[in-house]
Amino acid sequence: MSAAVREGARAGGLDVVTFGCRLNAFESEQVRACAAADGLSDAVIFNTCAVTGEAVRQARQAIRRARRERPDARLIVTGCAAQIDPEMFARMPEVDRVLGNDFKVQSGAYAEEERVRVNGRVSPRETARHLIDGLRDHSRAWVEVQNGCDHRCTFCVIPFGRGDSRSAAAGEVVGQVRRLVEGGVNEVVLTGVDLTSWGGDLPGAPSLGNLVGRILKLVPGLRRLRLSSIDAAEIDAELLRCLADEERLAPHLHLSLQHGDDLILKRMKRRHKRDDAIRLVRQVRTLRPDVAFGADLIAGFPTESEAAFRNTLALVEDCELSFLHVFPFSPRPATAAARMPQLPREIVKTRAERLRRLGAAALAAHLERQVGRTVDALLERGARARAPDFTEISVRDAARPGDIIPVRITGHDGRRATGVPVSATPASSSP
Ligand code: SF4
Repeated sequence: MSAAVREGARAGGLDVVTFGCRLNAFESEQVRACAAADGLSDAVIFNTCAVTGEAVRQARQAIRRARRERPDARLIVTGCAAQIDPEMFARMPEVDRVLGNDFKVQSGAYAEEERVRVNGRVSPRETARHLIDGLRDHSRAWVEVQNGCDHRCTFCVIPFGRGDSRSAAAGEVVGQVRRLVEGGVNEVVLTGVDLTSWGGDLPGAPSLGNLVGRILKLVPGLRRLRLSSIDAAEIDAELLRCLADEERLAPHLHLSLQHGDDLILKRMKRRHKRDDAIRLVRQVRTLRPDVAFGADLIAGFPTESEAAFRNTLALVEDCELSFLHVFPFSPRPATAAARMPQLPREIVKTRAERLRRLGAAALAAHLERQVGRTVDALLERGARARAPDFTEISVRDAARPGDIIPVRITGHDGRRATGVPVSATPASSSP
């Protein structure tokens, strides 16, 4: 789900302001390439997110601010919020154009004049993955392997913004990863909207585990492969085998669990029950003892009783969760959950706060267990590093972002570990 990331609307030039998930960040690089190729120069493009009301509010605020800062620039709005409610943005006097998700990475789309160009139903069968090889920051690269979603969870608007599930061909993904590794990348993160449904629309319906196995086999130079968020109900046997046998597959699973109560999971139209999640965690722990788990959890879903909420609190321990993403329920237009009897906002907020506090305690306990361990950490900018199990580490005197070096964990501050490089030379220096 999402956080607003603002790249800032500089005076003059072409800027893309991204809201939401890694997938949007990945696509923003494609949007920039497309718009530049169409000759757009003095413009700001807002790649919006619709997952929460807050994300939409931030986009509208950023648009108004950009108009004040750049009175002559063309302001173009795209992304899921524009796809789901184009009229809302078209009514804003600050906005010049509204482009649906079908067109945001389509060459030629930025050279047109039509003010609102949005298909009622998103229908692309593929995206312009060929425009970039992956989204790189200074440490790792994200590769989009899947987009859209065929599920209809009752709280979620994503399928209305992104359309049906579609997968990148395995050969194309392997090629992208190989080029990134040749370019010096040590860690690649596979990303998508509903990652575990990768392959469902491809000949022979290969599984995500099959893709992971192929990447690790065909790109031996890749040091670390990580998965972004996955659905606990759809983990396949091949993926479990890779977790057990492939050291290079990061021992970290971020699970889209959403809740810990079976009745609420049913009302969310999720495809797993509480015990399925617990059973999966125990199975993965047996296969890969150094694994760490994170999860997305919603607090305050309509009709959630105190007892149901306590089942979510208990799930944090039962599923050994260390990294929580907590979302106060946000009713989204046109979703079934928005039509259900809503809890008072105060209760929603209080429960989210209680869950966050429990998450902070779970993280501190996880960090305590790491003290004394030596891990091969991926260096990030700002004296930070990331352990294979996703533990964040403050590291002094570290080498270059993107390198992987052995780090001994010496302590923690409850939010991240502290560590020292075990040796001056990186474990595997990039060429
Ligand atoms: S699986 Fe559910 S929550 Fe995830 S994108 Fe699809 S509809 Fe939304």
